[in-house]
Amino acid sequence: MKCPVCGNSDTRVVDSRLTGEGYAIRRRRECEKCRFRFSTYEQMEILDLIVIKKDGKREPYSREKLKQGLKRSLEKRPVTVKQFHKLIAQIERSIQKQRKNEISSLEIGEIAMKHLKKLDKVAYIRFASVYRAFEDLDIFQQELSQLITKNGKKLSSNKKK
Ligand SMILES: [Zn+2]
Repeated sequence: MKCPVCGNSDTRVVDSRLTGEGYAIRRRRECEKCRFRFSTYEQMEILDLIVIKKDGKREPYSREKLKQGLKRSLEKRPVTVKQFHKLIAQIERSIQKQRKNEISSLEIGEIAMKHLKKLDKVAYIRFASVYRAFEDLDIFQQELSQLITKNGKKLSSNKKK
């Protein structure tokens, strides 16, 4: 890799360490010519996966799209940037494990929901309500009432009185 300062193509790795639970690598490099030190970051990227959307259209997988959908669900939730990155990595690893060339947006949604549920229940409900739309409203309402009961608000008992 070229040096960003002088453009010299001889740079050597002076240090490298695993990060992101071992699924990414950070390298410290030094330019042989001007001694400038810089870092590179290597991580898994899904480049050759096609997503089949609900309307049947196909498009290349986009991490950005996944991030945006999840960000909306996580708005004002107590989730750190680090946790968010971990979530994305977990979802992408699950996608990779399927070893597919094509995947439906619904499948991605299901995978995302599975991981989101473990991280933040409210965000999960938000995400699920958008993703599942009105296809299985019963399940959605079940999840919602379970959540409300767990929070100790017990709306159902008030209704009965
Ligand atoms: Zn240089």
